[in-house]
Amino acid sequence: MTAAIDPSVPPSGTGCVECEELGGWWFHLRRCATCGHVGCCDSSPSRHARAHAAEAGHPVVRSFEPGEAWFWDFSAERAVRGPELAPPRSRPTDQPAPGPAGRVPADWRSRLH
Ligand SMILES: [Zn+2]
Ligand SMILES: [Zn+2]
Repeated sequence: MTAAIDPSVPPSGTGCVECEELGGWWFHLRRCATCGHVGCCDSSPSRHARAHAAEAGHPVVRSFEPGEAWFWDFSAERAVRGPELAPPRSRPTDQPAPGPAGRVPADWRSRLH
């Protein structure tokens, strides 16, 4: 385990923090393993999880998608191991991906990275 992982911190919410603030949308969600910040993935238009990792100096994320338990280290660009984090361990299963409902453009597939 690395110092970048704090298993006691719950996720910040059910959607990407910055996309919710700015009215954007995401494809998949990632959870910062240090502070719980939920951000959007590298396929999403704004890549807020990666931006948070760089700005906050929190390199490790865990997938926040239902059924996914992997960790990724943005500073090393490789998968890493991690412990169980504080629940909830994913976005709600009835929440769509891409999301959020009502803000995803019809041509979303052509907007992914
Ligand atoms: Zn985002
Ligand atoms: Zn963080």
